[in-house]
Amino acid sequence: MSSYTITPVAYARSPFREKFAIPRQPGLAPSVRTRIELTPPFDDPCALEGLNDITHIWLLFLFHQVGSRNDSLRVRPPRLGGNEKTGVFSTRSTHRPNGIGQSLVKVESVEGSCLWVSGADLLDGTPIIDIKPFVPYADIPVNAGNRMAPAAPEWLEVIWTEATETEAREQGQRLRENVMQIVTECLQQDPRPAYQKHDESRVYGVRLWDLQVRWRYPTPDSIQLVSISEASDDTLPDA
Ligand code: SAM
Repeated sequence: MSSYTITPVAYARSPFREKFAIPRQPGLAPSVRTRIELTPPFDDPCALEGLNDITHIWLLFLFHQVGSRNDSLRVRPPRLGGNEKTGVFSTRSTHRPNGIGQSLVKVESVEGSCLWVSGADLLDGTPIIDIKPFVPYADIPVNAGNRMAPAAPEWLEVIWTEATETEAREQGQRLRENVMQIVTECLQQDPRPAYQKHDESRVYGVRLWDLQVRWRYPTPDSIQLVSISEASDDTLPDA
């Protein structure tokens, strides 16, 4: 069997400092901005020529942080409730042969040897192994369907208190990001594992940029923000 060596062409710089609460597919949190930094010898602006004429690109990347290696050819996707198994090639599981992911993202701007995109579902530091244009006539097949994932997941209601709104606004000014909108988009799709039972007393947390975002579930269908603050290393969440 042949083997091949792949060298990343770029690295993603995103707000997601851990896997928890990253959207499970691209486009679900459209306000999230990610910088794609080309690496030598690919960091020549001429490699990005033409991208201003294209609205969306495919990012091919490595799931570089999947934890323990799992060679199983059947996986438990969230879409099947997290308990039922199916063949790995019918899913977008991060545990897969060769650990390659692909995401369709919107091109925002090209700046020298960097590319800004929105809507990505990538961990900060993800190695990008290729970038390709979305081609509408070829990439939108007629009668396309997926019985396992026929539509986007239903959103939960995200509840902001006056205090958490103020915190988000202040941190947003500092970071120059729409923190409230981005946190809402990431949390409304319910980051909890599919098998986890509702526990209204449990406080969840995640690191976004240098922020610690905390929330709880007052009801099974709603999320209430608890706090948004600058994180210190000992406030890493135990989700
Ligand atoms: N859209 C891609 C695909 O279809 O190949 C990824 C789908 S995968 C279900 C999305 C999840 O991958 C995210 O929610 C996040 O938890 C995880 N993830 C993102 N970047 C990763 C990385 N570099 N290493 C490991 N897991 C990652």
